[in-house]
Amino acid sequence: MPCVNLSLEPSPASVGLEPAVSLYIHVPFCASKCHYCAFFSEIPKDQWPDRYAKALILELEQLSGQIKPRTIFFGGGTPSVLAEVHWRQILSAMERCQLHQAQEWTVECNPASVSSEKARLWKEAGVNRISMGMQTQDDVLLGHLGRIHSYGRARECHDLLRRAGFQNLNVDLMFGIPGQTLEDWDRCISEALALGSEHLSCYEVTYEEDTPLYNQLQAGRFAMDEDLVCRMYEHLLERVREVGFRQYEISNFAKNQDPAPEGLPSTACMHNVNYWRGGYYIGLGPSASSYWEGLRTTRWPDVAKYCECVERGLSPLAEQDRLSPLARAGEIAAFGLRMTEGWDFNEFARITGFDLRTEWAVELKELVLLEWGCLTDERFCLTAQGLRFADAAAEKFLRLE
Ligand code: SF4
Repeated sequence: MPCVNLSLEPSPASVGLEPAVSLYIHVPFCASKCHYCAFFSEIPKDQWPDRYAKALILELEQLSGQIKPRTIFFGGGTPSVLAEVHWRQILSAMERCQLHQAQEWTVECNPASVSSEKARLWKEAGVNRISMGMQTQDDVLLGHLGRIHSYGRARECHDLLRRAGFQNLNVDLMFGIPGQTLEDWDRCISEALALGSEHLSCYEVTYEEDTPLYNQLQAGRFAMDEDLVCRMYEHLLERVREVGFRQYEISNFAKNQDPAPEGLPSTACMHNVNYWRGGYYIGLGPSASSYWEGLRTTRWPDVAKYCECVERGLSPLAEQDRLSPLARAGEIAAFGLRMTEGWDFNEFARITGFDLRTEWAVELKELVLLEWGCLTDERFCLTAQGLRFADAAAEKFLRLE
């Protein structure tokens, strides 16, 4: 595929989207594959990390001067699995390309692969937020998930990151793990809160096809208990509210201190908020997606192919599609309803050019009747019950082309 010119300059005709943009960088390596994971990542072989770092730097150089990201997110995969030598190369390229002065810069990490030296490099480069996958405090359950770290290591990692000077830490937790009881989950929440992080992301285990956990479920090795999962989620909401965390999205909770101008908690993840609010984003690295002025693109989910394209000066894009304004507005509506604030009608119109009240009048009424939605003169949001069924609610807003 020839190199596609992805224009990065917003045109005056764009429908009010701000030029603020998020930069996502996908690190496609993990030390081993977790049993539930369907993300694109591979166990690094031979020279792959070296080749990946060089290709990524070439992509960063092409982007140099074209955008000024407001948020940066290194996700994966496991960014922390990259060796210090590769981090040094990538971070100095970020600086050289003037891509390093974001308001929020997150690196995801696995406790097993964080070192003091990596934490120091991140801090010096301008990283100001770390997201750590703890998942659970129970080492047996961590084993069921195929995680390679122990809870003890997660605690050490949290301390290490604090000592390195990070004041905005997220901890990822999982509930509904096969074999996990409500008491286990309560202990997990207690241990996570005791760490004192500023942000919590709590996800229900999902069973993605072709993962070991899915295959175990299909083979009857355990059964799903939806009632228990619902009770775990409700218990989570109670526990985190008691200690001052504010839920701002289905799975995300942030310390409610110094509310930011948008009314979000000051430690809300602004990178993800940009996705949910329909903002522009540029994704680099294998499998990463971008969205810019109606054009959605995805890079090859294949490390060798991605590197080869970039090295040869060819486009690393595997797919691109242009959504109609209405289809994109439907997607934006659906994503935004994941947030507890839902949509302010004026803001939705400013971002998409459509009136949520008229274009989706039938859907809003239906959701209110189901008691999944709450409608006022200014805004529409999902109720607590609606948030539990957010995927089903969101589907109603999608407009097929
Ligand atoms: S560390 Fe994250 S990306 Fe890697 S296999 Fe586990 S869940 Fe997937």
